[in-house]
Amino acid sequence: MNLQDPGVRFALVADEWFDGERHVREPATMKIVEGRLVGVMAGDHAQTLAAQGWPIERGAFLMPGLVDAHVHLFLDGAPTDQKLRSEHLKQPVGLLTEAARRSARQALACGVTLVRDAGDRHGINHAIRAEALVDGSGLAQVRSAGLGVKRAKRYGAFMATDVSDDDSIRASVRELARDNDEIKLILTGIIDFDAGAVTDEPQFTLAAARVVVETAHACGRKVMAHCSGAAGLAVAAGAGVDAIEHGFFMDRATLALMRDRDLAWTPTFCPVHFQWAHPDAVGWSAQTVGHLRRILDAHAEHLRLAHEMGVRLLVGTDAGSMGVEHGLAVFDEIERFAEAGLPTAAVLRAATSAPRRHFGAPQPLLVAGAPFDAVLLAASPFADLAALRQPLRVWSNGCLALPR
Ligand SMILES: [Zn+2]
Repeated sequence: MNLQDPGVRFALVADEWFDGERHVREPATMKIVEGRLVGVMAGDHAQTLAAQGWPIERGAFLMPGLVDAHVHLFLDGAPTDQKLRSEHLKQPVGLLTEAARRSARQALACGVTLVRDAGDRHGINHAIRAEALVDGSGLAQVRSAGLGVKRAKRYGAFMATDVSDDDSIRASVRELARDNDEIKLILTGIIDFDAGAVTDEPQFTLAAARVVVETAHACGRKVMAHCSGAAGLAVAAGAGVDAIEHGFFMDRATLALMRDRDLAWTPTFCPVHFQWAHPDAVGWSAQTVGHLRRILDAHAEHLRLAHEMGVRLLVGTDAGSMGVEHGLAVFDEIERFAEAGLPTAAVLRAATSAPRRHFGAPQPLLVAGAPFDAVLLAASPFADLAALRQPLRVWSNGCLALPR
């Protein structure tokens, strides 16, 4: 059934619901007409509406569609063998595009109606963004960072292009800003888990990072920075990037600056947590597993602190990384947020309205007037977060996406 057909209407009664910010512990009745939420009424009005000919849906809990604010659609998180993973990357673009389509399909089937793709070398993220706009595509909507910017011979070749001096930065960022929804800045490398630290210098100085931010902002684009380690975090927050991705080895001073400047943080626990939980996949020593645990514990502590300080937090998984599967990983990341001590409403906000606000969505909440984008659950995630894992129905951008 195409919900956007004129005349298609139904009413939905939920025992409890969450609008993206507020948990309402009483029944509500929603009217959906032609794929748009047109009315929200307190109470159960099923009988009256059924008598007026409205088809009725029911469920225990309704909430906005989930958002994964950090994925790489063209990467497949399922294989954990290093050789398989590097062979995946060598496939022709057509096959990588098919892999990205599968990722976006799997995300939507999990109730993730929107993903932010944090970079791919081929621009496959842009292609899937276009495909997802077609009604009934079965794909999660995509906010695409296209290709990012990095320094030559440094980390990030699978998702970024090389820039050199300030003029080259300006030219590249202006060019990328035409099609990229955001500019991805590869500010640091990844964590050296054996050393238990980020060991390389940031790729960009504070002055150079500022050139990236100023140029992107002049083009109306936000900047998301791949960044971990104290040196990189100081550059990221100092330059005023709009979002810090990963941000391992966070500190209170950086969080204070982020809060004051309203910079978002996407802590992406998933890839590190996977390597801690499955050290055999990489062959980590007991000592390195100890580093991983220490890094995860400090990260959780800083997430709790960030919440208390009022930093804007986004749930993002880095899906496509080893062991981090599209869609499913969102449930894991949400559990990491909860384990860190965040209240359920704050966790679900970080997975729904906070990213939508950060992306500048005209309607970040589940309210009348917006295209219907929601997940219906058989139980309340406020009683048990595991309820998120089995969505009964998913509506994306006004279309019924699950069951198909
Ligand atoms: Zn990433």
